[in-house]
Amino acid sequence: MSSVRNERACLVCGIVRTFNVFCQEGCPNCDSLLSLQNSEENVHQCTSPSFEGLVSVAEPDKSWVARWLRVDGFLPGLYAVRVNGRLPEEIVQSLGAQGVKYRPRDGSVQD
Ligand SMILES: [Zn+2]
Repeated sequence: MSSVRNERACLVCGIVRTFNVFCQEGCPNCDSLLSLQNSEENVHQCTSPSFEGLVSVAEPDKSWVARWLRVDGFLPGLYAVRVNGRLPEEIVQSLGAQGVKYRPRDGSVQD
């Protein structure tokens, strides 16, 4: 599965899809914030081809993995444990303006 080139992970929620699917359908969790659908530029900016540790989350509400990944409330799917890269600053700010605090998923933020 991870051998398929062109897979990318959303920098906000970590869900993994191919570039084409991100372009066609957007991110199932964040598209209202990121507007990935039909925007190759936004897909490039808000997703990363560099990620590690794929986890399939079937029931985000019940799964401890989902809590660990902080994806409870998200849709079932394939998620990356770590996503390398950061959202551009202007997008972080626009998320902030919508009341969403961006947590980088590159392992740099610990709590
Ligand atoms: Zn997302």
